[in-house]
Amino acid sequence: MNSMVIENVHIAPVVGAEIPSGHIHVEGDRIAALGPGPAPAVPGATRVDGTGCLATPGLVNTHHHLYQWASQGLAQDGTLFEWLVALYPLWAAMDAEVVKGAAGAGLGYLALSGCTTSSDHHYIFPKGRGDLLAAEVEAAQELGIRFHPVRGSMDRGASQGGLPPDVLVEKLDEILDATADAVDTYHDPSFSSKLRVAVGPCSPFTVSADLMTEAASLARSKNVRLHTHLAESLDEEEHCLAQLGMRPLEYMEKLGWLGPDVWFAHAVHLSDSDIGTFARTRTGTAHCPSSNGRLGAGVARVTELLRRGANVGLGVDGSASSELTSLFGEMRQALLFQRARYGPAAVTARQALEMATIGGAGNLGRQEEIGSLEAGKLADIALWRLDGFAEAVADPVCALVFGGRQPPLALLLVGGETIVEDGELRTVAQDELARAGGAARRRLARLAEEQGFAAAKEVHA
Ligand SMILES: [Zn+2]
Repeated sequence: MNSMVIENVHIAPVVGAEIPSGHIHVEGDRIAALGPGPAPAVPGATRVDGTGCLATPGLVNTHHHLYQWASQGLAQDGTLFEWLVALYPLWAAMDAEVVKGAAGAGLGYLALSGCTTSSDHHYIFPKGRGDLLAAEVEAAQELGIRFHPVRGSMDRGASQGGLPPDVLVEKLDEILDATADAVDTYHDPSFSSKLRVAVGPCSPFTVSADLMTEAASLARSKNVRLHTHLAESLDEEEHCLAQLGMRPLEYMEKLGWLGPDVWFAHAVHLSDSDIGTFARTRTGTAHCPSSNGRLGAGVARVTELLRRGANVGLGVDGSASSELTSLFGEMRQALLFQRARYGPAAVTARQALEMATIGGAGNLGRQEEIGSLEAGKLADIALWRLDGFAEAVADPVCALVFGGRQPPLALLLVGGETIVEDGELRTVAQDELARAGGAARRRLARLAEEQGFAAAKEVHA
């Protein structure tokens, strides 16, 4: 069994007091013990000298669209709806090979930013293009990251008042069958699970009320979680008021979409009463500040959600709206956005780290297993090297969160297995992964042109 001792390290366990110079003992895929000073003798254990390093829980990403790795840098100045309308035709051309290359590169890049668990919301399944969900699961398994794919869906195309072109939507029955099948095929509910599936119709403006309701029933019958986009932009709010006669969160409440098994991406445009609803129902939020900034969507009321006791985790959102997606970066962006809106006492460095770890674990229903460094939890650990330039900052957690540049990642463990060492991916060939991501972008552009999507040519012009 894998046995490792990390010593002489500053430990920020997120739950429990910080330990300025301590040790972490890993046995198999769990944390066996941690505490101050050197570790007791553990025969046969690999010893890691953590001098100059900060140990934190691995970061947890709770909102992403990995396929978008193949469509970065496009529609750079559009609003959410303009950006979506520009990119839908390009995304309609994706196949399993594009998704595999994009997911591999996207997940590898996330691991290099300290992420040990990632969700992915995949909601476009063009017909006859191979098994897209299998492609991203395979990419995650090759890398060794903990993966929570969300089987997404859209059934409300333009002819039904929705935003996407009809060619991109699926039929309700097909969606429910495919979603049930994804849960049955991949979902592993065990404590050590590296693969769990959630159910995720895309958003109020791309999905029918029937699909939202049926998806919630399906998820609850299978005891898996529910995820969707909500209250991301004012366009969405206007759409909901005009077409549904109510604001986005009121709509979700009516459809049975609130509760501790639900987490929403964004939740930017909330009323005071919405914030109370999040807290009261223990519905989670995936805060995605880079994407919200990039699309000019607004600044989420995260400080108020946290003050009311609601669960908030972080998400990078898809790579097409937060290019070269870094979860490390989201910690800092979250802190700065909140302070810009609410003042310097809004979110502390430690609260930003909490959102990136235990808050994310809460969104995924895994706060007993991951998100903090505690004996008995899974050994998902990031070891950040702070003995370079960062040594000049008095507080290691401040150095990590306030600093604009990611410190070198000495080690990243997922269930005790080394995924990153000395800033390089160890389970996969990093250069090949990066090249496959570039190839996915070129392939997607070529497929779209072959299929004659004029809009795809426009965004590539
Ligand atoms: Zn999203």
